[in-house]
Amino acid sequence: MKRHGRRNKIRACGAVLASAVLAAAFCLCACAPTDDGRKEEPAWQAGELRVHFLDVGQGDCTVIELPDGKKIMIDGGDGSAENNRKIADSLDDLGIGRLDEVILTHSDRDHSGGIESVLDEVEVSGIYLPYKPTLGSDEVYFSLCRKAEAEVPAVKYAPERYDYIRGDTYDYFLTFLWPRRFDAAPEGDANYYSAVLWLEYEGLSILFAGDMTKETEDELMREYALASDIFDWDDMHVSLESTEVLKVAHHGSATSSGEAWLRLLSPEAAVISVGADNGYGHPSDEVVAALHAAMPEGEVYRTDECGDILLTSAGGGAYTFSYQ
Ligand SMILES: [Zn+2]
Repeated sequence: MKRHGRRNKIRACGAVLASAVLAAAFCLCACAPTDDGRKEEPAWQAGELRVHFLDVGQGDCTVIELPDGKKIMIDGGDGSAENNRKIADSLDDLGIGRLDEVILTHSDRDHSGGIESVLDEVEVSGIYLPYKPTLGSDEVYFSLCRKAEAEVPAVKYAPERYDYIRGDTYDYFLTFLWPRRFDAAPEGDANYYSAVLWLEYEGLSILFAGDMTKETEDELMREYALASDIFDWDDMHVSLESTEVLKVAHHGSATSSGEAWLRLLSPEAAVISVGADNGYGHPSDEVVAALHAAMPEGEVYRTDECGDILLTSAGGGAYTFSYQ
């Protein structure tokens, strides 16, 4: 039986993006700058879900503060000194000295490059890696896996994809929708094997699409249509059509975000992590137009325009966006 997410959302940023003045005023509430120019985040409160989409240029790094205080990072940026410093400073600003879980969606450098630096900066209790390195795996990824196995207590590789993180005192879960089947090192396009994650907290559903491809989207939709029960675990249910917030795949590339996929998800808001003036032409105009078509009243938040983007929910399905 499908349970559809409650849709009593607050679109706090709806009009905010349209106005630089209002944006500045809004940021004064959510992320007041300090004298040294670094932002001062309000302290995380128990029961609050906070998702920080960090601006790491052309790459991905998302830090999640779960309602019970667990801290998760999805991807670690490209490994440039500037972005490594940025991520370390952000964790420091948030008072995060330990990450419960680091999830690397796939081995491409714009996601994996900074993970070794994260391992150096903070304690990491568990790490998910997209495949077991074998002879011939790229050297940087091989080195990351060796370091993780030496330093992180719990190392998991992609076949353990059905693992999930579940709240004890709060009603949330984070689980993998993809990859669904492969046991060896992937060949070909690493994006095809990119982890896709689903986070739900009291009716608010966020889909983190990694760098998934249209092929992945089609396979996932096919399996979803044929056997939606495989998306059920006990009382946890993944309902793709109830997606409220979409972390758009592959920096808004036209190789992802097919029309049928966006129509199925029909999110209320979308976030694109993308570098200004990147050489790939991300995000594609076609994808941005498709997003607006799939969510006529929804907002598209881009790290190249907004900087760091923060989603906050105190439960009950309501959420707000702020950015700096
Ligand atoms: Zn990428």
